[in-house]
Amino acid sequence: MRLLIMGPPGAGKGTQAVELAKRLGGAHISTGDIFRANVEKETELGQAAKRFMDAGEYVPDEVTNAMVKDRLARDDARDAFILDGYPRTVDQVETLDKILSSLGNKLDGVISLVVNPEELIQRLLKRAETSGRADDTEAVIRHRQEVYTHETVPLLEIYGSRGLVIDVDGMGEADVVGRRIVDALPS
Ligand code: ADP
Repeated sequence: MRLLIMGPPGAGKGTQAVELAKRLGGAHISTGDIFRANVEKETELGQAAKRFMDAGEYVPDEVTNAMVKDRLARDDARDAFILDGYPRTVDQVETLDKILSSLGNKLDGVISLVVNPEELIQRLLKRAETSGRADDTEAVIRHRQEVYTHETVPLLEIYGSRGLVIDVDGMGEADVVGRRIVDALPS
């Protein structure tokens, strides 16, 4: 199964994506994790991404698209994957369409975690106390939510018109949300 998981920053995409990838036996591909690992190792990609991430802005599409193209071409992503944090812009949707069609694949579904925005901000502020992430300050957290609303929410309409969106209530304990996702997956 080839899935996307979408939801605003703090919705718990990462936690759910890890569990789901285990269950489906596919690759978990988190663009945020890949960027953070590269920032830590001070690679060229990390250097290109860091200042955008720290400001709560999206990394430019050409950087992100090239990275995902390489990642999806690897063997472990051939039959099943869960993309977490990608695509986030209309340009990225178009690139993903091209990547998948060149590989002869298509998406099976887009899981959309539906959450309460104010509660999210509170969750993120709590995470900020321990995460050490440079983008976990209140101003940047609020900015990331705005960027998500402007740049990424429109993607739900695009995938909705393709009949791919699976809305899942994202409020509550992680294992409860995980169960809802599994129950909602296409068979
Ligand atoms: P969150 O969903 O909480 O914002 P992520 O770990 O998914 O956190 O992403 C962290 C940062 O990495 C984003 O704020 C952005 O700067 C960058 N990033 C991740 N995925 C993308 C993407 N698809 N396009 C552009 N930038 C991205």
